[in-house]
Amino acid sequence: MLEVQGVHTYYGQIHALKGIDLTVGEGEVVALIGGNGAGKTTTLRTLSGMLRPKVGNVTLAGKNIVGMPAHDITALGMSHVPEGRRIFGQLTVRENLDIGAYRVTDRKLTASRMEEVFQLFPRLKERESQLGGTLSGGEQQMLAIGRALMVDPKVLLLDEPSMGLSPKFVETIFDIVQRLNKERGTTILLVEQNASMALSVAQRAYVLQTGEIRLSGDAADIARDESVRKAYLGEE
Ligand code: ATP
Repeated sequence: MLEVQGVHTYYGQIHALKGIDLTVGEGEVVALIGGNGAGKTTTLRTLSGMLRPKVGNVTLAGKNIVGMPAHDITALGMSHVPEGRRIFGQLTVRENLDIGAYRVTDRKLTASRMEEVFQLFPRLKERESQLGGTLSGGEQQMLAIGRALMVDPKVLLLDEPSMGLSPKFVETIFDIVQRLNKERGTTILLVEQNASMALSVAQRAYVLQTGEIRLSGDAADIARDESVRKAYLGEE
């Protein structure tokens, strides 16, 4: 579904991604883990078209998407939930969701997708007229995911959905990730600092270190790897 080959991405002179290769198969949940500054966010930004790689190929369902504007990549079925949520604080929950579907011209379709989001996140339904900025952190994360779902994506890129959330909300969010994958068959690339949670929901994983893939394999094997346990799972 998603294939990344030899991707190098720079911020000016800073060489942030140094030849990334990864694949995400249709219907898979794949975790991308790694420490601060490893390049996880940069990888997602490169995939969704927010950054253009200097070298390398990215294909989505067989189509080369390098150099394509981000909104065209979204239209092809890949939706990005960015780090820090980036919801519109001065707009209501409903308006934020509407913006997610701004390219969907069929109002009935928008309405039915909004209902689906509300079914997935009943808490958003209860708060549909509340301003985004007044939601709790966990509710804002739900809204950010809900907004990304308004285009009915085939592939969802999730950047640190658990960041700053209480354990209860973290569980809710990971539950939703699993439901989206199992019930809708959504393909998911999940970037997480919470490596143990990410490895428990993913089938496969990649470990990123200073812009390079250091390790990849079945999530269960990665979770058992001694270097991973020490570096990312908080074990001595
Ligand atoms: P974290 O878990 O801390 O968010 P990350 O793995 O997502 O880290 P990135 O945000 O992708 O890491 O950063 C990768 C490297 O690129 C880091 O060295 C970072 O300082 C650098 N970087 C990120 N954004 C920019 C930017 N806008 N300008 C310059 N350098 C940047």
